[in-house]
Amino acid sequence: MFVEMSHMCTETSFDVEMVGLFGHPVGHSLSPAMHEAAIRSMGIQAVYKAFDVAPQDLPAAMAALRLLQFRGINLTIPHKEAALPLVDELTSTAARVGAINTVLRDGQRLIGDNTDGAGYVAALQSDLGLQVAGMHVAILGAGGAAKAIADALLDEGCQRVQLYNRNGARAQALGMHLQQYYSARRIMTAPLAEFNSAGLDLLINTTPVGMLGHLDGASPVAESHLRSDLIVSDIVYRPLHTPLLVAAAAHGAKIHDGTGMLVFQGALALSRWFGVVAPSLVMRNRLLDVLQQEELEQHHA
Ligand code: NAP
Repeated sequence: MFVEMSHMCTETSFDVEMVGLFGHPVGHSLSPAMHEAAIRSMGIQAVYKAFDVAPQDLPAAMAALRLLQFRGINLTIPHKEAALPLVDELTSTAARVGAINTVLRDGQRLIGDNTDGAGYVAALQSDLGLQVAGMHVAILGAGGAAKAIADALLDEGCQRVQLYNRNGARAQALGMHLQQYYSARRIMTAPLAEFNSAGLDLLINTTPVGMLGHLDGASPVAESHLRSDLIVSDIVYRPLHTPLLVAAAAHGAKIHDGTGMLVFQGALALSRWFGVVAPSLVMRNRLLDVLQQEELEQHHA
């Protein structure tokens, strides 16, 4: 009996692939639920676990990926930029964006990638059937998410990307950064206070304005800028329908919520790790279940 059990344990530890998430904190992350649902559905022998890694422990945690033979890891706040010098190689996207959200282990080498921007573009295509090539787009915010999304939009052939940020100098700095890779004629920057929706096809909010517990009920732009022929996208997903999306829908605009980016950045990470097309619908459904449960609990609290 003892021999049989120890045999089972040995087999399990060798057959199961380890993937997961390093962040700090990670308690509220939706990634484990979403990835576990995908892994079950794909029939892969893998475990996805969230690890709370303090900033000073990141180098040791990254080294452990090699030692413990992880297939890969996702990185979230505050590790996306700090991990850059801790990998052996960067994809061209991760190098342009200057941040990593997905690490793939290839033998003893760690490869850093960034699937945030491509995930966002894939979500627009999948959710709305939208091709961004040739579009005029405005992005509100100039932080990490804005950088990844702007890069992906320009890479996909958007005709013009306008960056609006509360701190105008930060928008300008992001614009200058993007000009290293894309024509300056396609990039415009301005303070958020100067936002104007004239001529826009797509408006994307990447600020936390409207997020639960952070400026609840607020919208990053005045309602007078919303109209029925503008597509409005918000990458905030708590709540699912932010004040910006509610107002945009009331003006007849097509809206796009923040779950799409979360699902597709994760689906692309799974594809990198396991070489398969990830089940985005399964991931979305699991995500929506968790978010709806959270909303119910908040309602009853
Ligand atoms: P970040 O790097 O900290 O950038 C935040 C941006 O929001 C900055 O441009 C900041 O402007 C602006 N901002 C903050 N508070 C503001 C306010 N009260 N009014 C106007 N602008 C304000 O953050 P991030 O990583 O880009 O993430 C931004 C948001 O996207 C977060 O809510 C995050 O949860 C969400 N997100 C969603 C996904 C997804 O998968 N759906 C992925 C990543 C991030 P200043 O420069 O003026 O401070």
